[in-house]
Amino acid sequence: MPATIINGREVAARVRGEVAREVAAITERAGKPPGLATILVGDDPASAIYIANKRKASAEVGIADFHSPLAPHSSRAEVAAVIEEFNRDPDVSGILLQLPVPEGLDGAALTATILPEKDVDGLTAISAGRLMHGTPGLRPATPLGVIELLDSYDVALEGAEAVVVGRSNLVGKPVAFLLLHRNATVTICHSRTRDLAGVCSRADVLIAAVGSPELIDADHIKRGAAVIDVGINRTDEGLRGDVDFDAAVERAAFITPVPGGVGPMTIAMLLQNTVTAYNLQRR
Ligand code: NAD
Repeated sequence: MPATIINGREVAARVRGEVAREVAAITERAGKPPGLATILVGDDPASAIYIANKRKASAEVGIADFHSPLAPHSSRAEVAAVIEEFNRDPDVSGILLQLPVPEGLDGAALTATILPEKDVDGLTAISAGRLMHGTPGLRPATPLGVIELLDSYDVALEGAEAVVVGRSNLVGKPVAFLLLHRNATVTICHSRTRDLAGVCSRADVLIAAVGSPELIDADHIKRGAAVIDVGINRTDEGLRGDVDFDAAVERAAFITPVPGGVGPMTIAMLLQNTVTAYNLQRR
């Protein structure tokens, strides 16, 4: 029987609805909504679109918009000063520095100056440490989206064999920790893993976050597995994930399509993180 297709657009719409209700309740209680500050340095067209989409989605759920566009040749001190101002502003709940920043700036070093309680991308070392420890904090949005999709389709995580392919700070490592905290038995694979297919085919839950079109094929997938494809690859044939969907759909029990799977979840979870940040600052 072919797999159930996990509908990321539907789950994301539900999360956005829940966030909109929480934002309305906060606004009613506090007299003003949580705020999201976005910083875009330079004029990279793709980054401009990402930021525009995030701002539009956050306005739709009632989050206040603070935006700071900075010139391409802005200095480290100029960007840091904007971050510092947002750090101090009590109306700003979350701060997002769009990456990558132009050459000559160090995106990681600038991100590190964002207050951990406002780090809605969950990318600072303090947020990563809190995730590792399992203490309250902000987690990266895409990994949160992966867990939300699995939960929405009642995929059991406790005791499950989970294999994560990819070990980036943005996706692979945080998703592995989130699965670990849900009591899955987690294996992380990467570019130097021997016998990738052998390891993956043990997985009840397989997360692909590589950036290599259709690397994961039928040989990598255990019958009945839940397969979450984080990959976004632009190919001559169009947008492709890291999973060979047509092959995987015949073996898996659950699978995310690309597009329409993990993609829509990232912005939804960023909005949820803005509310989480608001609440963290008031603990
Ligand atoms: P990355 O390049 O930082 O990391 C890729 C990881 O894959 C590395 O850890 C590397 O060791 C591993 N890898 C590379 N080749 C491999 C191979 N042959 N076998 C096993 N592992 C291999 O990428 P990233 O930022 O983690 O993103 C991964 C993918 O997810 C990309 O396609 C990216 O576009 C996509 N992505 C999607 C969203 C979303 O919203 N859906 C968000 C972030 C990233």
